[in-house]
Amino acid sequence: MIFSMQASTLLYIILLIVVLDFVLEQFLSALNRKNKKHSLPEALQGIYDADKYQQSLDYQRANERFSMLSSSFSFVLSMVLLASGFFGWLDIQLQAYVSDQLWRALAYFGILYIASDLITIPFQLYATFVIEEKFGFNKMNLQTFCLDKLKGYVLTALLGGVLAYIFLFLLINIGQNFWLYFWAVAAVVMLVLNMFYTTIFVPIFNKLRPLEEGELRSAIEEYGRKVNFPIKNVFVIDGSKRSTKSNAFFSGIGKQKKVVLYDTLIENHSVEELVAIIAHEVGHYKKKHILTGMLFSILQIGFTLYILSLLVFNQNLSYALGGNSLSVHINLIAFGILFSPISTVTGLLMNIWSRKNEYEADAYAASTYQSTALAAALKKLSVHNMSNLLPHSWYVFVHYSHPPLLARLNAIKKYTTA
Ligand SMILES: [Zn+2]
Repeated sequence: MIFSMQASTLLYIILLIVVLDFVLEQFLSALNRKNKKHSLPEALQGIYDADKYQQSLDYQRANERFSMLSSSFSFVLSMVLLASGFFGWLDIQLQAYVSDQLWRALAYFGILYIASDLITIPFQLYATFVIEEKFGFNKMNLQTFCLDKLKGYVLTALLGGVLAYIFLFLLINIGQNFWLYFWAVAAVVMLVLNMFYTTIFVPIFNKLRPLEEGELRSAIEEYGRKVNFPIKNVFVIDGSKRSTKSNAFFSGIGKQKKVVLYDTLIENHSVEELVAIIAHEVGHYKKKHILTGMLFSILQIGFTLYILSLLVFNQNLSYALGGNSLSVHINLIAFGILFSPISTVTGLLMNIWSRKNEYEADAYAASTYQSTALAAALKKLSVHNMSNLLPHSWYVFVHYSHPPLLARLNAIKKYTTA
């Protein structure tokens, strides 16, 4: 039906989607804000002292206010740019300088990328050097911030530029069926990125080192022998370079698989708690979450590309955003918005799946190691990172990739006596 619509109707639909998305987001955030309690449920009592709990509420409030401000700003900006025909106007300006379709599209996205990044810099500075700083999380200085930005630009220009070039080349030269070819390219790139994430990309921003000799290494080695996960795959990352917040993650497939612990995590947790965290990450690996996740992403990319192939040559979409002729790059912007209700749904499904995985990894850690150490680690992590202990269930349903603390503690309770 979208194929035969007038440009003006299409513009109204696009604007309506942006409005509905904003309203839904504000509604969920409001529910979440109202859900805050000043006293904790029984199962969570004793993990915070009163001062620290109040501080965590203040931290969440500061973040909520900030995200309301930044999302309102981007909402107003999007509405103005879409309704005024800015995206078409920019293309018309570029037509005078770049006549080649492919290079004009690359220039178009390059300009939009740099402009949108520059606009968000004040917000990023405020989040890091005001909010995170005030609550004692920030360890970044201006130099690290600028260096990160610079590296990010180079990486995006190289990787994003090459991918965008291949994408546009296939689209312009093959037409409607381009999506099948680009799907294959995207799948290969995704596999390679995933495999070499910790060997190539992480070292650009951080230092990874093998875990040093000592009590922790021996304890992990002993656990690793039991479940057949080699210690040579355990690494430490200097997360403390940017923030005092702590975390751990699993990455890679096959020989490239790694469990990565933040140095801040090691500082704050006992040996048992750390082994329990490793056991959780190993659980993700043993239950094949990484592999299935990658498969899902590849399917999702294929689906998105197919829908895109139906819309990207529609002239009226270019007119809707102010263009004077068919421009695939204007249509890509329009597609991004028209597709967002679908991506909200797929994102929601991915979160449901991811929360199920977290329960499975917790169960794996509790049954192959200790539920008490895991519970202690989860509590300590929540307190340390000042996570929201009582998010609204609808907010969790849409946005959380991990179940909230209380739900996770309840789920591993049954392993306590085992
Ligand atoms: Zn996990």
